[in-house]
Amino acid sequence: MNPPKKFEFPPNIPYSCCFRGRFERFFVLDGPAHLIKMHVEQLCKALDTTDLDDEIRPSSQLEELDVELEDLQRVSTLGMGGFGRVELVRSPDRTYALKIMNKAHIVETKQESHVVSERRILMQCKNDYIVRLYKTYRDSEKIYMLMEPCLGGEIWTLLRKKGRFDNDLTRFYCAGAMEALEYLHRKNIVYRDLKPENMLLDRNGWPKLVDFGFAKKLKNGGRTWTFCGTAEYVAPEIVLNKGHDLSVDIWALGIFMCELLTGSPPFSSTDPMTTYNAILKGLEKWAWPRFITKEAIDMMLSLCKYEATERLGFGDIGEIRHHTWFDNFDFVGFRAHRMRPPYIPSVSNDVDISNFDIFPAFDNFTSGVDESGWDIEF
Ligand code: AMP
Repeated sequence: MNPPKKFEFPPNIPYSCCFRGRFERFFVLDGPAHLIKMHVEQLCKALDTTDLDDEIRPSSQLEELDVELEDLQRVSTLGMGGFGRVELVRSPDRTYALKIMNKAHIVETKQESHVVSERRILMQCKNDYIVRLYKTYRDSEKIYMLMEPCLGGEIWTLLRKKGRFDNDLTRFYCAGAMEALEYLHRKNIVYRDLKPENMLLDRNGWPKLVDFGFAKKLKNGGRTWTFCGTAEYVAPEIVLNKGHDLSVDIWALGIFMCELLTGSPPFSSTDPMTTYNAILKGLEKWAWPRFITKEAIDMMLSLCKYEATERLGFGDIGEIRHHTWFDNFDFVGFRAHRMRPPYIPSVSNDVDISNFDIFPAFDNFTSGVDESGWDIEF
């Protein structure tokens, strides 16, 4: 089937997207000229969904941590997300990353369901390649997520520093992404936001996925229609609002691999419409730089097939491990952490934040009291 030649915003669909650092949520009324911001309730009504994962229950796997919010001392800021800050904090015996979000800001941007869903999904996950969420808290103004700290920084930062990665480093991080995605897909959870900004390194150089704001539990064999993700990484079926499933993560893995090997994603523009039209044209005609091996090209083309069912790893992401680009990669040693990571970040102690940018002490997130109770699970 030939991809349609031109992208047009289909009317009456929600449009929820993160453009490298800024988060936008629109509703398209009648075509590209009329992007109108609307409330999530209206979006959900239009979609006939609540976008909440009723099936996901808080997990009992979690160790009960005997740490209260009052026991935590702020050390410094590790990062800023769409809704708040992530702080490095210290309890009497160890450090954590504490994601702090202003409830008023979440309500203003109508992201309550994504935030609740992020908590529910992360609470369920216990995997070496997914950041651990230990505990959550709430008060009248904020919600808090207490996580394992990854002091090696974002691989996005490393990529900016190195320009691009060689095959060994790219394979290592793709293997980490595959472990995490395979684990999520077994639970029928689609991640939908794979990108270098969302992969952090622990102090020994092992990769972990963070930021589960777009993750969603699908009903068995199910599809979902919400337009979300990062523009450069969305699959054609998301662009065309045809309904999508777990295989959008396979497409994103191909784009991720391409960004790591070349330093930038293949479909990219300051105008998202241009990006979406390029996505629909596909990778097949892309002019590959000389340093990209034919095995790597074949792997990326196999992952980024226009038809979701034709993607390598469709139905079983583990199949991707048999591709020749992974020849001689020791997956057993990787999983057992018996391998030495090809890049080991410099982290001198558990409060060393030198792998992170410096963030201002003040921010513009809307603040204020919100006792309406949507955050009761925190
Ligand atoms: P987020 O709001 O989840 O997108 O996080 C914003 C930024 O905070 C990320 O891009 C990371 O740089 C940083 N960050 C988030 N979680 C952690 C963590 N567990 N350890 C260290 N840094 C983190």
